[in-house]
Amino acid sequence: MLYYKTQEEIEIIRESSLLVAKTLAEIAKVIRPGVTTLELDKLAETFIRDHGAVPAFLNYNGFPNSLCISVNSQVVHGIPNNTPLSEGDICSVDCGVLKNGFYGDSAYTFGVGEITEENRRLLKVTRECLYKGIEKVTAGNRLGEVSNAIQEHAEKNGYSVVRELVGHGIGKHLHEKPEVPNYGKRGTGMVLREGLVIAIEPMINLGTKGVVHDRDGWTVRTADNKPSAHFEHTVAVRKDGADILSSFEFIDEVLNKETTNAK
Ligand code: MG
Ligand code: MG
Repeated sequence: MLYYKTQEEIEIIRESSLLVAKTLAEIAKVIRPGVTTLELDKLAETFIRDHGAVPAFLNYNGFPNSLCISVNSQVVHGIPNNTPLSEGDICSVDCGVLKNGFYGDSAYTFGVGEITEENRRLLKVTRECLYKGIEKVTAGNRLGEVSNAIQEHAEKNGYSVVRELVGHGIGKHLHEKPEVPNYGKRGTGMVLREGLVIAIEPMINLGTKGVVHDRDGWTVRTADNKPSAHFEHTVAVRKDGADILSSFEFIDEVLNKETTNAK
């Protein structure tokens, strides 16, 4: 079952998605070596509840926390814990909220302190992959265009695309149809129609595309233990292109300020 959203519903999803964006910006303000991922999780939960929303991931199929935080070789679905982050870590923070009956979902991978040039490039290209996919979102295009654009940009840069996990439709449910793979062929997949809202979320590995599942039942990590990055936006399909409902603008504002201060 595909749910096409009305204009009104899209605006509610935008409100949820912008709260996610602002929650991630709160994380951007405090993420540094020595901070634990559990501290980030508590901060996010408080911020979300203070804004009249509910953390979407908390208790989702039994997930124990509000954020999925995946460090270095962890791809997604990492469980926040008491281990302090270290200088040079890369840290994917995935956040979802439910507000006024609709979900928003977005993820950003942060560098912790100074990171290696290799990791900096992985983050840059993964973020670019997300926007390459979004560029192909427009009514009348097939979903395979989106998937293919992501895969092509990742592989052109020598990286690999995780196959086991994909993006998704989003609305009254956190995960709706269709699945949005980060790999695929042009001319395949469903035709995008106005009102469809999808979360696009490339998970890009520095090394092999293979992943393994931890015994905790949640954490997915790379099979070769090399780093992985993850960026995600919630996006509505329009006649004339994509309407990005979440935003990295608030995060970028925080991070650019820090860079300026450091100079
Ligand atoms: Mg997410
Ligand atoms: Mg998602």
